[in-house]
Amino acid sequence: MQRIRIKKLLSEGIAGQDISVCGWVRTKRESKGIAFIALNDGSTQDTLQLVIPETSPAFQKLSQCNTGAAIRAAGVLKESPAKGQRFEVEVVSEIEVFGDADPATYPLQKKGHTLEFMREIGHLRPRTNTFGAVLRVRNILAEAVHEFFQDRGFIWVHTPIITASDCEGAGDLFTVTTLDLEKLPKGNGSVDFSQDFFGRRAFLTVSGQLEGEFLAMALGDVYTFGPTFRAENSNTSRHLSEFWMIEPEIAFANLRDDMELAGDFFRFLCERVLEKCESEIAFLEKFYKNTSIAELKTLSEKSFVHISYSDAIKELERAKEKFEFPVKWGLDLQSEHERYLTDKVYNGPVIVTDYPQEIKAFYMRLNDDGKTVAAMDVLVPKIGEIIGGSQREERLDVLTERMRESGIPFENMAWYLDLRRYGSAPHAGFGLGFERLVQYITGMQNIRDVIPCPRAPQTIKF
Ligand code: ATP
Ligand code: MN
Repeated sequence: MQRIRIKKLLSEGIAGQDISVCGWVRTKRESKGIAFIALNDGSTQDTLQLVIPETSPAFQKLSQCNTGAAIRAAGVLKESPAKGQRFEVEVVSEIEVFGDADPATYPLQKKGHTLEFMREIGHLRPRTNTFGAVLRVRNILAEAVHEFFQDRGFIWVHTPIITASDCEGAGDLFTVTTLDLEKLPKGNGSVDFSQDFFGRRAFLTVSGQLEGEFLAMALGDVYTFGPTFRAENSNTSRHLSEFWMIEPEIAFANLRDDMELAGDFFRFLCERVLEKCESEIAFLEKFYKNTSIAELKTLSEKSFVHISYSDAIKELERAKEKFEFPVKWGLDLQSEHERYLTDKVYNGPVIVTDYPQEIKAFYMRLNDDGKTVAAMDVLVPKIGEIIGGSQREERLDVLTERMRESGIPFENMAWYLDLRRYGSAPHAGFGLGFERLVQYITGMQNIRDVIPCPRAPQTIKF
């Protein structure tokens, strides 16, 4: 008989139906000649209760059905008399044990392992309730990203992972090379990358934005969704060295359009999670208390509070709180400042716009005041920046000037200026860090707990 997934069985099953399920044993207990196995197959938060009467031949296999064992069970679907579950399965015939798990050594014996411990066993943690929930939410969010943009006519573009652009300014880059590290070719005292694989130095991308811009200047509205890499040595709970980013780029659009898109996008994602992952969120709410169905419901309906950088500075200057870092117009907001705005002042997401040009990237459009740029950051409680975006400078003369001021090498960026030389148009976009989003939605406090294989300084497994 074909195996049926537990998720499907629980939603579409009919009492009396013969079924076959496969999964991993969560718990096993025996009482008065009946054994009970809680089985999980990863398709849903719920476990399926298998009921095995003494008379069933399956009863003889129970000694091999320890926590962690992989089994197949066949039986009859029954309405469950127990509270909180719709169906159970009476296993009248065989249980097939694919692989037992020795109770003396299987690391996931009891409930309530710490997240730190689970990080040590990254290959087994997806079997826990917590990581099952997080990874299913992650999946639904990824699906919703495509749904949102595709429904609005955006074109998914695949920007390169290996790039020659080294001036995005988003963080430190990883070099991609096939040079012999023991015998680096030297010229003029430094490494001669003309002898490297690509004939010049290449990097792992920190962002697909610059390439996204030339695609938007042809296809209109585009988005990327792919991995990005940053060699920043920041061992924080919200930085990874490899993370996924979503970057829409919209043509004939200004900062307002960009903000509106970010808000609609964020609300849509919350809505989809509620619709498709309610039991996952309910589980995370119950055990970690850093997310909740009610909160996501509010988020899915509320627009972002909007404040300009200059007003944010005024707000921070008024604060009674003592900050570690100085607050002054012209200085960047530190995470303590961001957190004050989101957690103390507004108690929710805040969108801050129009930052001083000196603290933002060269491609952001200069405002009429000559001092600020059309930038926006979306800040959320507990995490800080989740989205960074801007209207891009489309005026050739202004962009050239800003590149000169910022010391951007022109020889590698001729193509970028071409976009302003031929058929330039206003355009805008943003980058949403996918793991920060998953973190915010699930309430997981460490970003390393929302990606299967986290990469961070001194941390690489598998
Ligand atoms: P931060 O100041 O938090 O390091 P950033 O200013 O470097 O962020 P951007 O360059 O604007 O961020 O990148 C766009 C988005 O990518 C950010 O808003 C954030 O959600 C995400 N992001 C940036 N760096 C990381 C990282 N190291 N790990 C995970 N997500 C990141
Ligand atoms: Mn950064």
